Amino acid sequence: MTSEELWQAVLAQIQLNISPANFATWFKNTQILTHKDGGVLVSVPNSFAKEWLEQKYNRDVLKILHSLDERIKSVKYEVGKSNLKVVERVPIFSVENDQLEFQQFKVNKNTNLNPRYTFDNFIVGPFNELAQAAAWATTKNPGQVYNPFFIYGGVGLGKTHLLQAIGNEISKNFLKKKVMYIPTEKFVSEVIEAIRNRQTEKLKAKYQKIDVLIVDDVQFLTGKEKTQEEFFYAFNSLYEENKQIILSSDRSPKAIPALAERLRSRFEGGMIADISFPDLETRIAILKTKCQERKTSFSEEILDHIASNIKRNIRELEGALNILIAHQKLNKSSPDLKITKSLLKNLTSTPTRIVNAQKIVKSVSEFYDTKEKDLLSSSRKKEIVRPRQVAMYLLREELKSSFPFIGRRLGGKDHTTAIHAYGKISNEIKKNESLAEEINLIRQRILSD
Ligand code: ADP
Ligand code: MG
Repeated sequence: MTSEELWQAVLAQIQLNISPANFATWFKNTQILTHKDGGVLVSVPNSFAKEWLEQKYNRDVLKILHSLDERIKSVKYEVGKSNLKVVERVPIFSVENDQLEFQQFKVNKNTNLNPRYTFDNFIVGPFNELAQAAAWATTKNPGQVYNPFFIYGGVGLGKTHLLQAIGNEISKNFLKKKVMYIPTEKFVSEVIEAIRNRQTEKLKAKYQKIDVLIVDDVQFLTGKEKTQEEFFYAFNSLYEENKQIILSSDRSPKAIPALAERLRSRFEGGMIADISFPDLETRIAILKTKCQERKTSFSEEILDHIASNIKRNIRELEGALNILIAHQKLNKSSPDLKITKSLLKNLTSTPTRIVNAQKIVKSVSEFYDTKEKDLLSSSRKKEIVRPRQVAMYLLREELKSSFPFIGRRLGGKDHTTAIHAYGKISNEIKKNESLAEEINLIRQRILSD
C-alpha cells in the first residue's frame, strides 16, 4: 500500500466525523511524507493547521492509522514545502483503479454538471419518490410543468444528485438548451466579483442566456442582500420567459424568510418536493447498488449492520462503505462483523456539539491571539476592538443573544455598543471576503471542540 492510499483511507474516515467545512480547513493539502518504523510524518500547509491537528485531531488520526496498520505507533506533523496536490474532498472512489474510474467523470465546463449523477444510479424509495418523479417530469418538458421546482431535505440525502441528474438528462434530450448548474456559494462569489469589477450588467446578461438554471443550496443566500437582489433579477427574467428554474435547500422555503417573501407567489405555480430519510430496506438497497458499482460485495450481516446504524445520511452510508472497501483492499479479504463494528465505531455515535457564550469568547480570543481579559476591557485599540466586535457578532448570530446580554457579557458595555458592533460586522462581511473567511474559521473553532 502506498502512503497516498493509506492517507486517503484515513481522510475517508475523518471526513465522516467532522463537518465538510472543518474537513476542508484542517485536512486540505495534507499528505503523508514518510512512513517508516512505525512513525508517520504528515505534511500540512501551515502552522495553524499543524497546531490544530496536533491538538484536536491527533488522537483520531493515530487511531485510524493504527486500525489500518497495526505497526503505526506515532504521527508527527510538519509544515510542508510546496509541491502539494490539492485534496479538496476525498474522491468517492478512493483507491488506485477506482481513482481512474473516478477521474473519467469530468465536470462539464459549460454546464458545471458532473456526469456521475444520473437518474439510472439514483435509488428511489418512499422517502424520495415524489421528488424523483417531479424531477423526471421536469426533464420531459423543461419550463412547462413544474416551474420553479424546489427540492429540500437534510444533508447527504441526494439533493445535489437529483439536481444534477435533471441537468444531465435535459442536456442529453435537448441539445440546444443551455443548462447551468451552480452552487449558491459560487453564485455569491460571482456577484461579489462582478460588483467589485463593476460588471453586474455582464453578469445579468450571462444569466439571461440560460434555458435551465439549477441553483443548489439556496439557504446560503440568507443574509446576503446584494446577492439576493441579483438572484431575484436572474430568477424573474428567466421565469418570465418560461425558462426552467430548479432550486434546492436544506430547509423548506417557508424557513428561509427573506427568500420566501419575494418568491412566495412564484412558488404557488411551481412545485415543492421534500426528501426525507430512507427506510431500512432502501438503505440496504442503496448499499447493495453501490457495492455493485464498485464491483465488490459484503455479507448481509455487514450491510445490515451499516444500514441499521446509519439512518439519516446517504453520504455517510457511502462513507462507511468506502472504509470497508479500503480495508478490504489493504487486507485482501472482507472484514468480519467484529472488525466492521470497530472500523465504523466513530460513525455510529456522533457527539452533539454544545455552543455557549464562553466558547465563543474563548475561540475569538484564541483566533486573534488576544487575551480574553482585553476583550472585556474598555480598550479602544484597533487590535482589540475588532475581535470584540466579532465576538459580539458571533454571540448574536450563533446564540441569538439579546443585545443587552451581549453588552454585559463583554465587560459590561452598553447594548448600543453591541448593536453597533453587530451592524458593523454584518455589513463588512458582505464587502470584505477575508473577514468573512476569518469568521468562518472561528465558527469552525467554536464547533470543533
Ligand atoms: P445533498 O446534496 O442532499 O447533501 P448529495 O446529493 O450530495 O446530498 O448525496 C450524497 C451522496 O449520496 C452522493 O454521493 C449521492 O450520489 C448519494 N446519493 C444520495 N441519494 C442517493 C440515491 N437516492 N441513490 C443513490 N445515491 C444517492
Ligand atoms: Mg448538496
